[in-house]
Parts: sequence; structure tokens; C-alpha cells
Amino acid sequence: MKILIVNAGSSSLKYQVMDMTDESTLAKGLIERIGIPGSCLKQTVGGEKYMIELPMNDHIEASKQMIKALTDPDHGVIKSMDDISAVGHRVVQGGETFTTSTLIDEACIEAIKSNIPLAPLHNPANLMGIKACLQVMPDKPMVAVFDTSFHQTMPPQAYLYGFPIEYYERLRVRRYGFHGTSHRYVSKRGAQFLGKDMRDLRIITCHLGNGSSICAVDKGISVDTSMGLTPLEGVLMGTRSGTVDPAALQFIMKSDNIDIDEMLEILNKKSGFLGVSGVSSDMRDVEKAAEEGNKHAQVALDMLVRGIKKYIAAYAAIMGGVDVIVFTAGIGENSPELREAVLSGMEFMGISIDREKNRVRGKETDISAENSRVKLLVIPTNEELVIARDTKELVSELA
Ligand code: AMP
Repeated sequence: MKILIVNAGSSSLKYQVMDMTDESTLAKGLIERIGIPGSCLKQTVGGEKYMIELPMNDHIEASKQMIKALTDPDHGVIKSMDDISAVGHRVVQGGETFTTSTLIDEACIEAIKSNIPLAPLHNPANLMGIKACLQVMPDKPMVAVFDTSFHQTMPPQAYLYGFPIEYYERLRVRRYGFHGTSHRYVSKRGAQFLGKDMRDLRIITCHLGNGSSICAVDKGISVDTSMGLTPLEGVLMGTRSGTVDPAALQFIMKSDNIDIDEMLEILNKKSGFLGVSGVSSDMRDVEKAAEEGNKHAQVALDMLVRGIKKYIAAYAAIMGGVDVIVFTAGIGENSPELREAVLSGMEFMGISIDREKNRVRGKETDISAENSRVKLLVIPTNEELVIARDTKELVSELA
């Protein structure tokens, strides 16, 4: 069975074709600048790259070009779309409606729409991708996989904010959490790697990339996570501030005479590594600047390290201990320095890193020292595989 995985943004569309007989990736593609001058499609098949530039005014045109590229006799991977059994779509916000992945039908589309107020930037883009695919492949079964659904197991004491309860009851303002497919994948994979049953483990997963979130996975389910109503909460990120005192916003807005939209733009796009270091939103640039003696870059790194340490200790406290800590995503998989800084000085919790084993990038590795009671793992994430697996499972039930 071959599955097409689609991740649509407002002006982009990422796709992959996976062969589920061995879960291998046959093709990867990225369409950028949809609806903007300079639209282009890049596709990689078996290490060979193919690129075309042509105007694509909307997601429907982009989906048509995706199909054309996938079925291209010279650069494609399939003869026709008949080879694709189903399409799995990434959807950012499933609200409280979706606790698992779901077959896409009219009701599902309406429910994704109803969650737009909770994710005004992401859900409309995801919906555009779904609708475009439905239009160009009307007979294909399609599945929606939500970033939030893994976290729907959180108890109210984890997901409620300290506002008057009516804001939850009336507006559904609460912690939803994100990166759910990643936390789900790496926690399960971590348990498999250790040959253990998830139900016997208390795992803390650290998804550290441009956006970062930490999750407490107790006996296989998410019981707390650092991102909130939106992906702004939690640790310091590439351009996002992470958690701040909300009253600081009023202070800044009044003194600089800016409105809430501008303030949120600053918190989402101009803060984090970029804002604190003044150098870049990219970890590699910040690490380099810190090495060269840039104090602001160093303090940005120290803030991220401190933030992660706090979540690890807090989540261990909530779960009554921790058995496994997993690092994943761009920074978690590729920065031994960051992992070492986070895990150093935590011997009091039974955490001890092997510095030699930690010299690894992007490879499943146990980096714990012999005497470490807590297993420390690097597990590369694979959100597309989770989407493909869920899609295969739900579509198989149809047969
Ligand atoms: P992601 O959002 O998962 O793609 O992660 C992007 C982040 O990973 C960026 O901050 C990158 O600088 C960081 N990253 C990628 N490769 C490395 C590396 N070799 N060392 C340190 N950070 C890295």
C-alpha cells in the first residue's frame, strides 16, 4: 500500500509518498510560494532532485503539479494516482473534537472549520490542502492527523489556565499542546528501542526545533506538555518567546504605544533566540556566536537549557519519577552540546550522560552513562510515518 502524506501551509505544500510494505519513503516534495510570484516545486526521489518553476495560483493548482511530478515518467515514482491508496493530511488544531486521527468526511471538515478560531493561521491552510486534494483526487480516502490529539489525555489540572472557568466553558480556552505526532512517535519508538512496554514507563520527550515543546508521557499517554492554547507557550524557541508574564505585555504596550497584534507579532516572530541573541533564530548560528564570545547568544542558550531542565524536573515530579528522557527534532537530534548542558548536574535525579556516546547527530542512540538510572535517548522524529501509519490503519478498516 502506498500513502501520500500532505502538509499544507498558507503558501506551501509539503508531500511524501511512503510504501507501507516496508515503510520506506519513495518521494519527498515541497511546493513553495503558492499564490506568490516565483512558485516552485522541488521533488527528491532516491537522492535525485527535480525542480520546476511555474506559476501556481492556489492549492488546487499546486496539488495538480504535485500529481504531475509524482507521475512524471522521468522524475516520478508512480505510474498513475491509482497506485496511491489514500492520503493522510497533517492538521494543526483538532481542539477537543478530535482525540485520534479521523477519516475525512463532511462532518470532519466542518469540525476542522469550527476549530479555526483556535488556530487562525494553520487550520485554514490545512483545510485548503484537504479541499484541493479532494478536488483533484475525489475518490481517494483521506485521513486527518492532528498535532493536538495526542495531548487530549491530559487531565484538567494540566490543561486548565487559572482564568475564571467560564473562559474555558464558553470559549474553550485551555492548553491543547502541539507536536503530538512527534511526541507520540518518539515515546513509542524510545520504549521499543529499550525493549520495554510503554505501560511500564514514565517518559519525558523533548522536541527541540524551531518550535520546541516538552511532554510528559506516563504509561503511554500524554499527561502534560509545555505548549498551550497556541504554540507560543513553553521554552524559548527560534523566534517565539515561550512563557512570559502576561502583565509584561501591558507594560511594553503602554510604554511603546503598540497594540496587541503588534505585541503578538513580536512574541511570535521577533523573540526567542532571534530576539535575545540579536544574531539569528537558528541554533547553529547562535551556538557559533556564543563560541565567539557573544554574551547575548550565550544567555539565549542558557535560557533554553534552564527552561528544559525546569520542565524535566517538573514532569518527573508530576509522574512520581522518570525512566526515560528522549531528545528529538533539529536541535534535540543534532546538538550534543545542548543535550550535555541540559543533562549535566542532574545526577540528583539519577540522570547521568555518557559524553562519548552523546557525540552523535540524527541517529537513534542511547546516550546514558552505565550508572544512569534514567535512560537518555536520541530518537529522530518521523511525523510523516505516524501520519502514514494512521492513514493506513483507518483506510484498512474501510475495506
Ligand atoms: P526543526 O524545526 O526540527 O527543523 O529544527 C530546526 C533547528 O535545528 C534550527 O535551530 C537548527 O539550527 C537546528 N539544527 C539543525 N542541525 C543542527 C546542528 N547540526 N547543530 C545544532 N543545531 C542544529
